[in-house]
Amino acid sequence: MGIPLRVLIVEDSENDAALIVRELQRGGYDPIFERVDTPVAMVVALNKQTWDIICADYTMPHFNGMDALARVRERELDVPFIFVSGTMGEETAVEAMKAGAQDYVMKNNLKRLLYSVERQLHTASVRRERKRAEETVQYLAYHDVLTDLPNRAVFYDRLHQCILTAYREKKPLTLLLMDLNRFKEVNDTFGHQSGDLLLRQIGPRVRRCLRESDTVARMGGDEFAILLPNTHVEGASLTARKILKALEAPFVLEEVTIDIGVSIGIALYPDHGEEGDALVQRADMALYETKQAGGGYAVFASEHEQNSPRRLMLTGKLRRAIEYGELSMHYQPLVDLKTNRVIGVEALSRWLHPELGAIPPDQFVPLAEQTGLIQPFTQWVLKTVCRQHEEWRDLGLALPISVNLSQKNLHETQLPDQVSELIQTGSMPADKLEFEITESMIMSNPMRATQILTRLNAMGIPLSIDDFGTGYSSLGHLKKLPVQKIKIDKSFIVDRIEDKDDNVIVQAIINMSHSLGLEVVAEGVEDQLTKDRLATLGCDSAQGYHICHPLPAAEMTSWLTESPSGLH
Ligand code: C2E
Ligand code: CA
Ligand code: CA
Repeated sequence: MGIPLRVLIVEDSENDAALIVRELQRGGYDPIFERVDTPVAMVVALNKQTWDIICADYTMPHFNGMDALARVRERELDVPFIFVSGTMGEETAVEAMKAGAQDYVMKNNLKRLLYSVERQLHTASVRRERKRAEETVQYLAYHDVLTDLPNRAVFYDRLHQCILTAYREKKPLTLLLMDLNRFKEVNDTFGHQSGDLLLRQIGPRVRRCLRESDTVARMGGDEFAILLPNTHVEGASLTARKILKALEAPFVLEEVTIDIGVSIGIALYPDHGEEGDALVQRADMALYETKQAGGGYAVFASEHEQNSPRRLMLTGKLRRAIEYGELSMHYQPLVDLKTNRVIGVEALSRWLHPELGAIPPDQFVPLAEQTGLIQPFTQWVLKTVCRQHEEWRDLGLALPISVNLSQKNLHETQLPDQVSELIQTGSMPADKLEFEITESMIMSNPMRATQILTRLNAMGIPLSIDDFGTGYSSLGHLKKLPVQKIKIDKSFIVDRIEDKDDNVIVQAIINMSHSLGLEVVAEGVEDQLTKDRLATLGCDSAQGYHICHPLPAAEMTSWLTESPSGLH
C-alpha cells in the first residue's frame, strides 16, 4: 500500500488521467482520485471533500484550466495546483503561475510530475504548519490558556475602554479583584494538576453571577479581575456577595473535595481613581485588607492607603540601598541547546537588606518604578554590569550580559543616552550588552517604546522579548519591533513538559519565531527531561535551575571557568 493521496484531476481525457494516476502510483502513492471536466463537476468535487493536490489540463472542450484555478483560489483553498498540459507554452505557463498555480508539467515529460507533487506537498505542509503556529500565537494573545478566560492584556484593554465609556456617558464603573485564599496550599498538597483543575472551575462559577456585559479575566496565578460597567457600590457589593456564595460550595478535584474561600477588593470609578492603573492599585489595596481579615470582600477606603507602612519604609530604604551598595547582582547562564555552550548570562538584581533579608526584584523593582528611583537604579545596574564585563573580559570570558529593563526605562530617553555613553567610552561593546523587555512594557506606550528600542538596537544592542506568551503576544507587533530573540515564559516550561497543550504552544512559539528569523530561549528549565524535549522541539537555548541557579559574581566566575559545559 502506498501513501494515500487525494487527487482531483481536471482532465477531459480518461487516458491522460490514467497516466497521471499511474505515474503517482509509480512514485509510491495510492491516489484516491476523481476526474472532472466541467465547471459544475469541479464545484461539486471541491465542496465534497478536501484535496491534497489538483492536477489540471490547460485546454478542454467544456472547461479550461485557468477557470478551474480561479475557482480554487476564490474559495481560498490552500491546495497545490499543478497544470499538466500537452500544449502549454512558456508564456501561458508564466500567466498560470501568476494566477496562483504552483507548477506546470508537460504531458510529454510526465516523469517530472512526481518531483513536482512532492515539492508542492512539502511546501504546502510548511505553509499550513506556519499558519497553525500563527493562529495559536494569535489565540494566546487574547486568552489565558489554562482557563480560557480573557487574559491580563485583554483585561487592561477592556478596562480602558470601559473607563472611556463611563466618562462619556457619565456612568459609574466598578472593578473587583479576587484572589483565592488557600490556593498555595492546594498546589503544595495536591500538586499542580489539581491547582489547574481548580482554577478552571472558577470562571464558570463567577460567570453565573454576572451580566452579559461584565468581564471576568485571569490576571495570573490565582488572581482574577471582574469589571462591572454601569454599576454603583451597592450593585458591586451585591455581586461580590453572590460570587462569594457561588465559590463557597466545595470544589471537586479528581479524588478530593476542597473548600478554598476567596477575598475580593472593590474600587469604583471615578471615586477611587480616574485611570486604569490607579483603580487596579486601589482594588488591590482593598483586596490586601480583606485577605488580612481572612476573606470576604471590602470596598476601597482611604485608610487602606495609609495602611501600607511597609511600603513607605521600604521606599526610604531602597533609596539608601542604591546609594550605599546594599544591592547586588546575580548572574544566570544561558546555554545553547545544540552545543551545550554558554552563550551569555542574564543579570538579576538582588536587594540584600540587613534586617529584612533578601528582598526579591519582583518586589523592589516596582517600588523603584513608583517612587522615581528607577533612574538611579538603572544607572547602578548598567555600571555593575559594565564592571563585571571588564572583569570577565580580562579572564577571557567576554560573554554577552543581558539586562532586564523596566517599563519606566521605555518612557524616557535617558536610557539610550546613558547606554550610548557607556558604549562610546569603550567600557562595554554594544554586542556584549543585551536588553530584555516584555510586551506589556511596550504596550503601555507603543510609539515611545518602539522609538527607544529602535535607537538602542541601532547602536548594535540585541533585544529580546521576555516572558513571551503571557501578555500581548501579538505577531503583528513583533514583526514591527527591532527584536532578535524571544524568551518563552517559564510558566510554559516549569513542570509543564508532560503537558500536551503546553507542548503544542511551545512548539508553535518556536516555529513562529523561527519563521520570523528570531532566536528562541526557554527559561525555567528545571530538569534534564525538559531540556532534552526543548532541544527536540528545536528551541535554540535554555536557562534554568537545572543548568545553574542565579549566582553572585564570584561564584558565577568559578562556574564559568570550571563548568564542563563552559566556554572551553
Ligand atoms: P525574569 O526576567 O523572568 O527572570 C527570570 C526569573 O526566573 C529570575 O527570578 C530567576 O531567578 C528565575 N529562575 C531562573 N531559573 C529558574 C528555574 O529554573 N525555575 C524557576 N521557577 N525560576 C527560575 P528573579 O531573579 O527573582 O527575578 C524576577 C524578575 O525581576 C525578573 O524576571 C525580572 O523581570 C525582574 N528583574 C530582575 N533583575 C532586574 C533588574 O536588574 N532590573 C529590572 N528592571 N528588573 C529585574
Ligand atoms: Ca529576564
Ligand atoms: Ca522571564
